[in-house]
Parts: sequence; structure tokens; C-alpha cells
Amino acid sequence: MKKRTIVIAGNWKMNNGPKEAEMLTKEIISKIKNKNIKYILCVPFIDIDIMYKAINGTNIKLGAQNCHWEKSGAFTGEISVDMLKNIGIEYVIIGHSERRQYFNETDESVNKKIISALNQGINPILCVGETLKEREADKTNDVIYNQVTKALENVDKESIKNVIIAYEPIWAIGTGKTATPMQANEICKYIRDIVKKLYGENISDNIIIQYGGSMNPSNAEKLLSQDDIDGGLIGGASLKADDFTKIINIADNITRNE
Ligand code: PEP
Repeated sequence: MKKRTIVIAGNWKMNNGPKEAEMLTKEIISKIKNKNIKYILCVPFIDIDIMYKAINGTNIKLGAQNCHWEKSGAFTGEISVDMLKNIGIEYVIIGHSERRQYFNETDESVNKKIISALNQGINPILCVGETLKEREADKTNDVIYNQVTKALENVDKESIKNVIIAYEPIWAIGTGKTATPMQANEICKYIRDIVKKLYGENISDNIIIQYGGSMNPSNAEKLLSQDDIDGGLIGGASLKADDFTKIINIADNITRNE
């Protein structure tokens, strides 16, 4: 039996302006059959307003894809956690590999964002993952250990309960290459063990650990059935209503059948 509620999050990245966002959301809503799982759409900032209207009356939650840790100030182009809180955002992706790779995001800035989000009552979706080179050099566990422990520095036992961790091997993101269910589960379990070491068994038993990296309707069932995989962070497939809702419905079936 699945111990934890499956959480599926879509990451739209830099896709869909407000018009497309509204259309896609309406299509997604019309195709979702079941409601046993939790699902979140992490959308571009400019879509948030229209999305509130589109998701009204549904159990879809909204998330952002980034934030700044300061409340306000001279940070051109940034959006603060406080601003997100003020417009009712409940989730924010932090430390996505694309932000680490293209926008110089470091473990230190990831940690500041996590702390700031938690202080404001926004749930972070913390992304961690290794490159292909690191995996081939047998460094996956070291990389994951460093990313997780540094991101969670000074996060206390109460706050950690609001964090979702997404294991996203960089070599599987947007590449069509998926980690095998065994590979993905092994690292998700390893992350749970790190959380156990840091916060104890009760918390590690309950924390949501997602897998992300080319999840699609064909591989979702095997991935989401693994004991330590509690959901998916989904990029490409979240842009297609058909694919995204198929994954949601698969997750929902797993929850009901087990
Ligand atoms: C992601 O953006 O977090 C992701 C997993 O993308 P994709 O599903 O396209 O690999």
C-alpha cells in the first residue's frame, strides 16, 4: 500500500502566456476524473492571476517556479516570496537544475530561498539531482547528500514537514531519457534516509519525495508504484493536457488500488 498521498506537479517552465494558460488549464480540468491525489501547476508569474479564475472550484493548487529570498528592494527582474504569498501562491519550485545551470543558483541561494519560503508559509519543492558525468563517476550519492543537506540547513523539524523534495537526475530532464524505476527509487530512498538522519524516522516516513525526468503516460505507472517515489515533477508532459491528465489518472488509480 502507498504510505503517502501521491503529489503530481507540472512545471510549465517558460511556456504559455495567460491565454494559453487558461485554455490548457480548462482542458486539464475537463479531463481529470479522480480526486484521490494532490496536483499542482507551477506556472510563469504572469499566468498566476488568470489561473486563479481558471482553477476556481477545483482542487488544483498553484505554484511558482522561482522566488527571491529578500522581501523587496533593488533586485531587478525578481519576485519575492512575500509577493507570492500576497497573491496566494502555495508552492514554489526551488533549485531546479535549469536555474542552477543557467542562472548560477547555488546551494547557498537555494537554502536562503527555502528558508524564506517556509517563513512565509509557502511550500518549497526542492529539486536535487546529479549530472550524467557525476553518475558515471559514481558520485551520485555524494552530490545528492550535499545538495539536500545544504538546502535544508537551519530548516527545523516543524518546517521540514512542508517541504517536498524532487529527485531530478539532470540527464533525464527534457531529454526523453528516464531513470529506470529502480534507479529512481534507489535515490529517492537515499534521500529519505538523509532526511531520517537529519530529522528522524517519523518525518522521513511522511516527507513527499517526487521523481522528475521525462515522466510520461508510458512510464508513469512503474515509476509511481515504487515504494519511495511519492509523485512526479513533470515538465514536457505537463504542457499537453492529454499526457498530464493521463499521468494524474494513473497516479489516482495507484492510490485507489493499493
Ligand atoms: C522538469 O522540468 O522538472 C522536468 C522533469 O522536465 P521533463 O519532464 O520535461 O523532463
